[in-house]
Amino acid sequence: MTKMDILPILYLVVPCYNEESVLRETSKRLLEKFSTLVKLSQINANSKVLLVDDGSSDKTWEIIESLHQSNSLFCGLKLSRNCGHQKALLSGLHKAAEFADLIASMDADLQDDINALDEMVSRAREGYEVVYGVRNDRSSDSFLKRFTAQSFYRFQSSLGVDAVYNHADYRLMSKRAVLALSQFREVNLFLRGLVPLVGFKSCCVYYSRGKRFAGESKYTLGKMLSFAFEGITSFSTKPIRIITLTGLIISLFSLFALVYLLIGHFIGDVQVGWTSIIMSIWCLGGLQLLALGVIGEYVGKTYMETKRRPRYFIEEFLSDKGDKDA
Ligand code: UDP
Ligand code: MG
Repeated sequence: MTKMDILPILYLVVPCYNEESVLRETSKRLLEKFSTLVKLSQINANSKVLLVDDGSSDKTWEIIESLHQSNSLFCGLKLSRNCGHQKALLSGLHKAAEFADLIASMDADLQDDINALDEMVSRAREGYEVVYGVRNDRSSDSFLKRFTAQSFYRFQSSLGVDAVYNHADYRLMSKRAVLALSQFREVNLFLRGLVPLVGFKSCCVYYSRGKRFAGESKYTLGKMLSFAFEGITSFSTKPIRIITLTGLIISLFSLFALVYLLIGHFIGDVQVGWTSIIMSIWCLGGLQLLALGVIGEYVGKTYMETKRRPRYFIEEFLSDKGDKDA
């Protein structure tokens, strides 16, 4: 931020998918937090909480509407259908960048510590354009979630994807950083991998992650795995290189084996090698299928990207500025 004598307008984007059980509590706490920040002269009184309804099938949108009516702090954005966490978040960031100086994002379930917002805002006011919220302990997550997440971060960084360790989507960005982010046009979205690519001055703020306040995680194991896959294949082509390398090593090995077998053949020492033949058929067959699968994954990604399909549609925008429009 350059004009720090004027208080920055903060927009907090909260994607919500079937969150009727947490929204009331979340909004209550956010209202308190925002009033305190305004009172402490940290943010402008025109700051807002932008609740994005990602095509929920429960009462989420009705709750957002009533929140908006009862307090002008809350605005709402309704997507035309369920587009997924990342796209819902992106739609909110884009919308918020129209009005805000600072744009933060947070999950609806109160797992991210709201109190970290104070430090995030003051960091941003010091001139940091991207402030990452990093959880410093995962004791509230289930063993499976902790294990899969941690192995994933390690695997990802070993493949050269530049992501911030233990950072999810709790962060604060300047308008300039969000506008830069919106220049990435990809459909296969993995925002926490994209934000570091934007660059600018950044820092981390640490907090401990709590339990989901109510309701269930919207990320099933299947969704989590496919998200993890996205996080690798959208940023790194190393898996393809590993396959090429494996293929090369196996080809070299079989060349030596061929020489060895030919020598055996001419010496007359021929074995009935049923087991070894069957073994190599299965091993190589498996490897080839795996290789085809990984390559196919990248071809599929290219296919999706070349279509350049729009990533989301806005059905309704509730705000005292934009009024109700499509
Ligand atoms: N979410 C969303 N669209 C989806 C799935 C999830 O907007 O299709 C939102 C959800 O409402 C929540 C956030 O994304 O605010 C993170 O989801 P969740 O808490 O279920 O994930 P977890 O914390 O278990 O990884
Ligand atoms: Mg959660």
